[in-house]
Amino acid sequence: MLFSRIIGHAALKAKLIGNIREGRVPHAQLFVGPRGSGNLPLALAYAQYLLCEKPDAADACGSCPSCLQMAKLEHPDLHLAFPIFFSDKLKVCEPFVGDWRATVLAEPYLDLEHWRERLESENKQLRMGVDIAQEIQRRLSLKSFRGGHKVLLVWMPEMMDPPAANKLLKVLEEPEPNTVFLLVATDAEQLLATILSRAQLVKVPALAAPDLADALRERFPELGEAEAVAVANRSEGDFLEAIDMAGKGEEEHFIFFRDWLRACYKREVATATELAEGFAKLGREWQKALVRYGLFIMRQCALQWMQAGPLVRVAGQELEFVGNFSKLLNERSAEGIRRELETAHTHIERNANPKVLFMDMSYRLMGLLRG
Ligand SMILES: [Zn+2]
Repeated sequence: MLFSRIIGHAALKAKLIGNIREGRVPHAQLFVGPRGSGNLPLALAYAQYLLCEKPDAADACGSCPSCLQMAKLEHPDLHLAFPIFFSDKLKVCEPFVGDWRATVLAEPYLDLEHWRERLESENKQLRMGVDIAQEIQRRLSLKSFRGGHKVLLVWMPEMMDPPAANKLLKVLEEPEPNTVFLLVATDAEQLLATILSRAQLVKVPALAAPDLADALRERFPELGEAEAVAVANRSEGDFLEAIDMAGKGEEEHFIFFRDWLRACYKREVATATELAEGFAKLGREWQKALVRYGLFIMRQCALQWMQAGPLVRVAGQELEFVGNFSKLLNERSAEGIRRELETAHTHIERNANPKVLFMDMSYRLMGLLRG
């Protein structure tokens, strides 16, 4: 994980990098931050920077052998510990490491819920027992593979049971040379006070709304600026919450848009009227977002229609819809619908009566689709 890939936290990143560059690498650090703040990606970026062979003033190089291994979380000097589904047979992290890597690579803003989902065993409890602490001790007794630092990243150390936490404390108290502990926690109050006192605190605040809004627009290009800001504000600096909210908004738009185009194609005036009433009830920002979403779908249809298949940036039910709908289009109708949507966007901004606007547009679409 590169620092540049992490949302926001500019001052904190600069401070972490500055410390390494000045040779101040604490033996143990505790990255504490709320869900979706980025405490785990920050700790991973810190580890990558520390292990990189050619870091510059802003980031790890991203291309040295060490960075390439870190990009897959497979660096031999990166040791990982995290909560597991404890059973008689499985008491240590090793059998779960592949799953953990894949989960973090897919979503570095990981929380326990996502980790549980990955393991598909909601009914069992996640635990970190003393065997994991012994596993940590064993792994740290090995020499560094690349001759530099050895990094132990413990994700959610607050879930260690007391014997495990005490064992970890012993390891922290008798540091092996060149070993760096990165503890990544959400709830520091659940940690042993003695562990807290052994680690330097890196406080990761919730994300600032403008940073979060920018990140949302990068992930959901169809999201308008005002909508991204609204979602960022509602999610209180939690990136996971924000992508959840934005994703749901998109699904709502998809269903509405699909139903509307179907009604227009089949010339079902009653259904179109019903949809127009629903459209009018939702706020102007939602109406604009729907129209922008419609433009996005029309672009996807055009790509499909020009047989530029691999460019189509949709999946699942959207992809199915784009596949079917693009067959009903020709150059004239596709261009006509696109123009209608663009005009509608301008009219909504200028405070047009939404129900009248929507019905007018519906009649014109009925004509275009059956032209
Ligand atoms: Zn590098």
